[in-house]
Amino acid sequence: LLLSACGNNSANPGTGNQPTGGGAAPGGTGVKVGVILPDTKSSARWESFDRPLLDKALKAAGIEPIIQNAEGDTGKFSTIADSMISQGVKVLMITNLSDESGAAIERKAKNAAIPVIDYDRLSLGGSADYYVSFNNTKVGQLQGQGLVECLKGKANPQIIQINGGPEDNNATLFKNGALSVLKPKYDAGEFKLSGDQAIAKWDNQLGNTTFQQLLTANGGKVDGVLAANDGLAGAVITALKKAGLAGQVPVTGQDATEDGLAAILRGEQCMTVLKPIDQEANAAAQLAIALAKGDKEAANKLATATERDPKGNRDVKSVLLTPELINKDNVKKATDSGFVKVADVCKGD
Ligand code: BGC
Repeated sequence: LLLSACGNNSANPGTGNQPTGGGAAPGGTGVKVGVILPDTKSSARWESFDRPLLDKALKAAGIEPIIQNAEGDTGKFSTIADSMISQGVKVLMITNLSDESGAAIERKAKNAAIPVIDYDRLSLGGSADYYVSFNNTKVGQLQGQGLVECLKGKANPQIIQINGGPEDNNATLFKNGALSVLKPKYDAGEFKLSGDQAIAKWDNQLGNTTFQQLLTANGGKVDGVLAANDGLAGAVITALKKAGLAGQVPVTGQDATEDGLAAILRGEQCMTVLKPIDQEANAAAQLAIALAKGDKEAANKLATATERDPKGNRDVKSVLLTPELINKDNVKKATDSGFVKVADVCKGD
């Protein structure tokens, strides 16, 4: 499997998996920013990409980052937030576990006059001051397009959809984006939807068992799988292997994780979506820095887009970045982005 991505890469050190010890940067200001990441099981991205990149970007501005992971537990999520508020963070950045869990923290922060940035996931009905993410409908569109592309030449393919957690607004946006491409094909009888399930909390293990059940219910037949991220794609590929189908059935993904990119190189996953997390982390850090200084004007200059919160009936000031489709022809683009470690992607090479 000697694809170009696995060639001469000594020039690319990658920035993933850096230690994040906390503590102020030398010459730091002692200004604290709290970051709460959602879990460790739904995607490798949070600990492998987001944590080191946010830590680095905040420290570079002399800020003392306090970054913690709620490990999928809404109780823990709220306890961490309370503790950060009492430690006097100047800004809170949160990736919610559900709209409610995010909105609850946002109410408390508002009472303490601490601005909140919704990081990656919008808390519908919440009161975050800013939202930093990608165009998530576009992410879903790329997954739909990628799947169609991978199924070229296949007559009347049967599709199983393994969607993200229903408590995550992004999962809805991804699914809607994918359906904007796939639904016309289902409606025209060109593609057949043979199974469709949302996976609570994006739990990969649950994704694996759910997919096996759907596959069995469909008589062991599947031609393509819309999997909402690389973690769920991996769960599907494990099940396909068991059924002797891995490599024959295209599976989509998202996050350009090391495992996802490696599966693309092995021919077991057909695409992923690269969301340059360095851009997302840097944008959120710049916003936090401006807000920590109390410079709302500077913050507003950074967040020039808006995202609609239909539940809260409001437009949230946002930074919305652009995702990119990655398949076997352009894996190098993902490894060139510098935050995926090439050595890990190419370990099975
Ligand atoms: C993020 C994805 C991630 C998923 C599971 C979504 O909200 O946008 O990048 O794969 O959550 O953690």
